[in-house]
Amino acid sequence: MTREFSYQYRQDYLLDLSKDVQDLVVVGGGITGAGILLDATTRGMKAALFEMQDFAEGTSSRSTKLVHGGLRYLKQFEFSLVKEVGRERAIVFENGPHVTKSEPMLLPIIKKGSIGPIGALFGMWLYDKLAGVKDKEKRRILNKISVQALEPFLRDDILRSGVYYYEYRTDDSRLAMEVIKEAIDRKANALNYCKVTGFLYNGDKISGVQVTDLLTGNTYEVKAKAVVNATGPWVDETDAFDNTSRQNKLLLSKGVHIVVDASKLPIGQAMYFDAGAGRMVFAIPREGKVYIGTTETEYKQEISRPQITKEDRNYLLGAVNAMFHDIRLNPEDVESGWAGLRPLIKQEGKKPGEISRKDETFVYPSGLISIAGGKLTGYRKMAERIVDLVSQRLQQQYQLSFSPCVTDKTPISGGKVGGSEHFDQYVEQKVKEVKLPGWSEEEVRKIVHRYGSNCDLVFAITNSRIIAGHGLSPARVAELEYSIRHEMTVSPLDFFVRRTSAAYFDIQTVLKEKDEVFAYMEQRLHWNSSISTKFRLDLERELEYLTSLKK
Ligand code: FAD
Repeated sequence: MTREFSYQYRQDYLLDLSKDVQDLVVVGGGITGAGILLDATTRGMKAALFEMQDFAEGTSSRSTKLVHGGLRYLKQFEFSLVKEVGRERAIVFENGPHVTKSEPMLLPIIKKGSIGPIGALFGMWLYDKLAGVKDKEKRRILNKISVQALEPFLRDDILRSGVYYYEYRTDDSRLAMEVIKEAIDRKANALNYCKVTGFLYNGDKISGVQVTDLLTGNTYEVKAKAVVNATGPWVDETDAFDNTSRQNKLLLSKGVHIVVDASKLPIGQAMYFDAGAGRMVFAIPREGKVYIGTTETEYKQEISRPQITKEDRNYLLGAVNAMFHDIRLNPEDVESGWAGLRPLIKQEGKKPGEISRKDETFVYPSGLISIAGGKLTGYRKMAERIVDLVSQRLQQQYQLSFSPCVTDKTPISGGKVGGSEHFDQYVEQKVKEVKLPGWSEEEVRKIVHRYGSNCDLVFAITNSRIIAGHGLSPARVAELEYSIRHEMTVSPLDFFVRRTSAAYFDIQTVLKEKDEVFAYMEQRLHWNSSISTKFRLDLERELEYLTSLKK
């Protein structure tokens, strides 16, 4: 019987790994590491991944959550980047239409704005060409009246015209999770809360990793023929374990997003607009809220918990208030938010906003491979390049041969819905079929949208043995149980922040349900008192921080 991807089996997984030799160990469980794990596994490599926090707890749960062609990179003449990520977004969408959705976007052209009508026309034409945009999603140039019909709150005195085009909105942490789960289904191993604390060597060549399970303090040695460092903002820190590595490559740039209720900023579709001084911000509707971002400031403090400052928040509120009439967002309107760090490769004399978003691969004399930079959108292609390299090296050193990359045609977990064009039909069919006691139609719909072809596993939980005596709805328990059994959810924050994003988009419910969820998990997962105290403190500290963003 295959073991569930669950907290319960962590010790078994770790013991098994310490007795075996992997073809590849990936350090870091953000989208970059997740993509590499899946690619390696689909080619037949025995592969394992270690993540020191929760999966995607680094930058990969803190992005603008767009799978996009990167329109703004045209201004920096990054044509090849726009071409690659533009084409990738179609693949990412096709392989997981439950996580990524097409999102109409309006770009208002304003007087003295950073994009003029001619620039917009040319830029969009080039973007459509480079990014291979589908016919039905090609840009439309709108006159002022049409823009106002779409967005009556835009300021009349500065508006000139607009462009209507399409981006893709994703759920970044769920994307990483579904990619990891697909690799797990194909016999890979992945563990969160396991920190790589050093490398193993055979002579002067890297031969594995030393791992500490942060939940127990136990340390393990895991042997591997190849090791890839995919630790995003921590790449320099992880490379420092290897004395053949190059240091000081990264420049970290912080970007923040804030969340307000949709009634406070009632926009009809996502928007991308001028924020002054040549910068642009997004306002993106999601689940009855609108999130607004982002900023770009160099960051030199502690990497794990970047924070939103009052200046960051006020800058974003000011950008919205300057663009719309009769909309006055105040600090009290901010319900939640997040800050993330872009791991950029330093370029002499360039500010964060000017640095290329291209990824770069470093191969050191020890054999350690490190990857840094890049975008969420390009994760699959980045993984393909890295695993091509690993495959070549394993062929040269061990005469092992692996098949070529197939991830462009590999649906991720939950994505087996018969192709993106059938997803809406799939959702409606399920909503019609599934009738469960205590579930509303809306709850069924939400589960199908979130879990795609895994939704039946969530629904089946309602009929299985679960802990009684809690005050949670059947739908909530099913989702929580699913995440415990199949998504290695370890702490309440894993559930509230990265499995469901409720801490960002439904904080009122989180505040209402936090004690029940905590009690359910404590009983279900048999936490000892020190784990229980730690998780309680982490939960309270995070919720206090999120609710303080309005002050
Ligand atoms: P991370 O997600 O940070 O993953 C690295 C992981 O390594 C972390 O989880 C960390 O805990 C782990 N780790 C570190 N050290 C160790 C160790 N010793 N042992 C084990 N694990 C370790 N891209 C887009 O395509 N679209 C967007 O809309 C977009 N918006 C963005 C907005 C902002 C504000 C930011 C900051 C970035 C945005 N990006 C976007 C870029 C994108 O989010 C990043 O490129 C991507 O998430 C980086 O993923 P990663 O896996 O490389 O890094």
